[in-house]
Amino acid sequence: MNELLKAAYHPENFRETGHQLIDLLANHLAFAQSGQRAQTINLPNPDTEFEFWQSQLQPSSDQLAGMDFFQEVLNRAIAVHHPHYMGHQVCSVAPDAALAALVDSLLNNGGAVFEMGIVGTAMERAIIKKLAQKIGFDDGAEGILTSGGTLANMTALLAARQLKAKDHVWEKGQQSPLALMVSEEAHYCVDRAARIMGWGSEGIIKIPADDRFRMRTDLLESYYEQALAAGKEVIAVVGSACSTSTGSFDDLSAIGRFCQKHQLWFHADGAHGGAFVFSERYRHLLDGIAMADSVVTDFHKMMMTPSITTALVFKNGRHSYQTFAQKAHYLWNSQTDQEWYNMGKRTFECTKSMMVIKIYRLMHQYGDALFEAYLDQIMALSQRFAQMLDEHPAFEMACPPQCNIICFRVHPHEDEAQNDALNQAIRQALLEEGSFYIVQTNIRGRHYLRTTLINPNTNEQHLIGLMGRIEQLAGIA
Ligand SMILES: *Cc1c(COP(=O)(O)O)cnc(C)c1O
Repeated sequence: MNELLKAAYHPENFRETGHQLIDLLANHLAFAQSGQRAQTINLPNPDTEFEFWQSQLQPSSDQLAGMDFFQEVLNRAIAVHHPHYMGHQVCSVAPDAALAALVDSLLNNGGAVFEMGIVGTAMERAIIKKLAQKIGFDDGAEGILTSGGTLANMTALLAARQLKAKDHVWEKGQQSPLALMVSEEAHYCVDRAARIMGWGSEGIIKIPADDRFRMRTDLLESYYEQALAAGKEVIAVVGSACSTSTGSFDDLSAIGRFCQKHQLWFHADGAHGGAFVFSERYRHLLDGIAMADSVVTDFHKMMMTPSITTALVFKNGRHSYQTFAQKAHYLWNSQTDQEWYNMGKRTFECTKSMMVIKIYRLMHQYGDALFEAYLDQIMALSQRFAQMLDEHPAFEMACPPQCNIICFRVHPHEDEAQNDALNQAIRQALLEEGSFYIVQTNIRGRHYLRTTLINPNTNEQHLIGLMGRIEQLAGIA
């Protein structure tokens, strides 16, 4: 064997580097989680960052060697374990799940067909069955894991189209104008899925939201009638559990009743909030979810799992086989056989990683109690933060939060446009100094700061620190 190849595959090289790397990562965790690391994010100019990594590919004396390479990655990366990380809906991963991801990477047992993904395929079904039971589905439920909520929502809608559309679109192409109904506050991926399926903007019927940004389910009937009168074939309603911008939960029971009445597909996008099925205290946010035909939940948002690990569950397991009706003779003999163990029949992906091992490891090692403890903690902190904002005259919220996504702003000026500019400038300053990582959003034309309290290392003191820093930057401290 060539010397390079020998080195690349040598088990002892792996052992030595692996031990060093674990030490490095454990130090990183301790440093980030304690908040000792000065910056949560150290944001460079994108071109500067590109030039650095491009130059690293050229052999030279500056080339990073050994652990210095990994250390450099850590230094330059955003530290999602830092207690001041409270931005996007990306979790600080439980380290055990990251170790499981390493096993996935090394084994490289993809899972299109059972023989290539023996362990992962079986584990995946066990996780799906477990999630289904938590949702309130019976044993007939089936599903898949797939690469993200975006793809999972699309996959569910493809099944909906196959089952509900009058025409057989998969075979004949689209004949009539199909449409779905969804809150104006829904994640953009629902809109994107409808457009990818060729429904155009006419195929997305946006239902207005109320003052807490929940779908106005009282309007479903009239919007539905208008759509029918306009010659559209409405096949589905998508409920958001919750919406992304403000974390608002649509009334899933009301949507469920409406879909039953009109025999429409009911899809629940629980990419963020679906995790609450694991909390006795908060599962009421999802009341009605068991009426859905299909449910999406991201484990990489509120289940402490590395990206990307998303579940798509169908109440009626047979529906899971309707998404794709293609033949791939080299993989399986018959497409029509409902072989649960040949996952490629039901997933967009052909090769798929053993993504399940990350969530399976956490459930196996710690049990459901881990998720319940986590959800209850971040929710208690979120409610406390909302109270602090509410009691502070300098701050206002977009709405009282239903979960751990909180949108707020300072408003010292009479002129709202000035307030918008100020909040935008504050977020930019926080990003540049790297002290806190929060994000921003535009809600009905107004600029808001946005936090997702998704990090179990964050506590009330950190939130006091954030509010104080914002006041300083606003010049109102
Ligand atoms: C995050 C999110 C998505 C997208 O999921 P990805 O895993 O990022 O692809 C879809 N819908 C909702 C409601 C979300 O919060």
